[in-house]
Amino acid sequence: MATILENATSSIALGIEDIQTDDPKRALSAIRNFHAGVVLLGKACLLSRAESADPAIVLAARHKLVPDGHGNVQIRARGHATIDVGDLEQRFADFDLNWVKGDAKTAFTLLRRMRNAVEHFSHPHSQKDIKKTVGACYPIVAEFFDLLGENPADHLGASWTFMAEQEQLYVKLVEECLASLSELPWANHFTTDEPAACTTCGLSLLKQSDSENSDPQMIDALCHGCGAAYGTEDFVELLVQHSFYADAYLTMTQGGEPAWIECPKCEREAFVLAIEEPTCFLCGYDPKEECRTCGQLLTPGVESDIGGDLCQSCWEETFIHQ
Ligand SMILES: [Zn+2]
Ligand SMILES: [Zn+2]
Ligand SMILES: [Zn+2]
Repeated sequence: MATILENATSSIALGIEDIQTDDPKRALSAIRNFHAGVVLLGKACLLSRAESADPAIVLAARHKLVPDGHGNVQIRARGHATIDVGDLEQRFADFDLNWVKGDAKTAFTLLRRMRNAVEHFSHPHSQKDIKKTVGACYPIVAEFFDLLGENPADHLGASWTFMAEQEQLYVKLVEECLASLSELPWANHFTTDEPAACTTCGLSLLKQSDSENSDPQMIDALCHGCGAAYGTEDFVELLVQHSFYADAYLTMTQGGEPAWIECPKCEREAFVLAIEEPTCFLCGYDPKEECRTCGQLLTPGVESDIGGDLCQSCWEETFIHQ
């Protein structure tokens, strides 16, 4: 039997499919499917907070008390009706779950009205209105998946990628993804206006699964847009390339020190020279030794091959030009 989460995601995916076609008839089924999917997803959130409970009791619209024969009482469902959206919001509060707020809440109310209108009357909404209202509800899907602790891309695939790149959701997701990297030692080197993009889907929704993690070698990286997983080393290299692309371009066209080089310690292209205190963004290698003559740091780019504790130019000065 399909779980409530599977039913929720297939309804949402159908709704998105309806939205993606330009057939006006399917605009109506977009409302029905998407609304049903979001409500089911909300119910899945409730069930996730009461895993041992009988789902029929958690989702019942009404309850009754019956004696259990041992001097206590049991809660049972009264009838077969399950909660509606109003009850769902109330039960979120009872379960200490955050209900949707702001624009998404307004849009959800509007979506519910549209749904009731298409069920019961002829309705005055244009296809464009419908697309707009459904679109404004995409953040709810993101929030409910957050509450479930699940990746929407894993359950919704391309339908999620489509939602993620719509403007109602995209800006918010980019912020969240950047915030997940904020504990990392080099987080301040990212430009927030144009963060690195996923090599699979092209969306700038790269993140780490544990936003508390501050150790680059422990990054568990993925794309929030398409679910693509990244190896830790490849991910750090990708961010280095993205963040110091402008410096690398300058070197390429005007010469000078490379922006980053292979780290002598971890052997990945993650040792960044284009910053004040050159360091490896992956393993943290941070050379402290200075040239004994001129005092500059003996970073991998500067270090003399033969000179030991001399930089290249002091070495040449000392042994060649004399
Ligand atoms: Zn992606
Ligand atoms: Zn390294
Ligand atoms: Zn020197």
